[in-house]
Amino acid sequence: MWGLKSNSESEANCLFSPPMKKLKASNGKSTATHLKKIVDRSCPFYKKIPGTPFTVDAFRYGSIKGCSAYFLTHFHYDHYGGLGKRWSHGPIYCSPLTARLVRMCLLVNPSYIHPLELNTEHVIDGVKVTLLEANHCPGAALIHFRLQDGQCYLHTGDFRASRLMQSYPLLVNHRVNVLYLDTTYCNPKYKFPSKEDVLNYVVRVTKNCLKKQPKTLVVVGAYSIGKESVFLAISKALGVKIYANASRRRVLQSFDWPELSGNLCTQGNDTLLHVLPMSSLKFEIYSLLFSQDPEGLLEALRKSVCSSIGISANRLDLLRDCGQPTGSH
Ligand SMILES: [Zn+2]
Repeated sequence: MWGLKSNSESEANCLFSPPMKKLKASNGKSTATHLKKIVDRSCPFYKKIPGTPFTVDAFRYGSIKGCSAYFLTHFHYDHYGGLGKRWSHGPIYCSPLTARLVRMCLLVNPSYIHPLELNTEHVIDGVKVTLLEANHCPGAALIHFRLQDGQCYLHTGDFRASRLMQSYPLLVNHRVNVLYLDTTYCNPKYKFPSKEDVLNYVVRVTKNCLKKQPKTLVVVGAYSIGKESVFLAISKALGVKIYANASRRRVLQSFDWPELSGNLCTQGNDTLLHVLPMSSLKFEIYSLLFSQDPEGLLEALRKSVCSSIGISANRLDLLRDCGQPTGSH
């Protein structure tokens, strides 16, 4: 069981001591690198849920002493890093969609994977655990822990706040004693529109673009998962299929979302809507986008995008950055 206060202290000590000058590497020399390696392997206190033997998104620290259940909020590398086919440190709890991805993409032994349905109270080691929709990438969950002594803890993982969350009964009816807030934009200067507003905007821009240039190729850049709502909204609004490469199609089909699976296609030439790895949208293209040089942009796009996705260059008339934050935080 982790204790909130004492645990914080011991972890803080672990992070900052022993002093660097006293540390000896195996070759007998003091090295900052060696210390860094040791420090990096220590699980920080904020990944441990006090009063429980649980950790959240803590897979890169090997076997964590005293941990009997490893929770995963969602399938993004900075959260699941450390998980792989050799994982053997204990049971992993996550949403069913995330569980499928962990099994399929990371080849984790299925005997370690325990999917938990959302909005359902599960009792694990005497603790009531409920996963709630996080409005981030598919499968992402907020994790609510209610201990036997009544203490409630909420670990958000990455999430995008929405009005709907204010009506989650578990959050409305129970005071949260400690909130573990994992956020990239926790500053009032960031004021994002709702996801719905962003999607409407993207659809509107795309339609306008197609009205002017009917042969426009619409490209959505995406990392592993997290931009599905963007290309699905465009696909539905235009009534067009979505082209993605085979490995992405496999991931998307594992979501078990009929409206997405039913709209995928295998040939780039069959649709004007393509999903590309973000890495395919090269630096030169971004530079040109920001330099407002449509001729140079077109040429760069023809050279790098067309060759990488195998379509004829004359289908590519214009690409315009919609300039809206389509991120999921
Ligand atoms: Zn994330």
